[in-house]
Amino acid sequence: MARYAMVIDLELCLGCAACVTACQVKNELGPRRSRARVAEVASRKGARLHLNFYSERCNHCADAPCVRNCPTGASHYAEAGLVSINRSRCTGCQACIAACPYSARYISAEGYADKCDFCGGREPACVANCPSSAMYFGDLDSPASEVARLLKTRKSRVPRPESGTRPHVFYLTSRKQERA
Ligand code: SF4
Repeated sequence: MARYAMVIDLELCLGCAACVTACQVKNELGPRRSRARVAEVASRKGARLHLNFYSERCNHCADAPCVRNCPTGASHYAEAGLVSINRSRCTGCQACIAACPYSARYISAEGYADKCDFCGGREPACVANCPSSAMYFGDLDSPASEVARLLKTRKSRVPRPESGTRPHVFYLTSRKQERA
């Protein structure tokens, strides 16, 4: 059984938001709703200012507060580490939206909770359409996958590790080899 993850190289991301547009088109969301977004975060290294772009979406957390707090079981763990929403069980109560520390969910035009679904485990539209090839998708548990290789050889971090949610989206922060 696979365990899907997304890996995003902060050194390659241009902040162009092609990932956001690709997601809106693929999922027919229209221009006002999106399952992804690009956040800009400034940091300082000595006298130098640095601007990083973070392509963000549902992290398909292994310990997901949205699943824990869904009163109807609509939000659930699906196969291969995906966090999914059963639309027929969703009442649109927004408990999952309140529980998610990443603001990854919204209410769809039809009234149910919605979010990134990693394109169901096929190559996500955001990954396929990234013009700088900053995004990778694959099976964490397959030693042959690019995501497993990158996480083994590059320094990375997950969003808000203090939340304890064990995200399946990782950001590569450095080209330096940290681990053998
Ligand atoms: Fe749930 Fe939010 Fe984690 Fe996605 S990012 S699995 S919506 S808690």
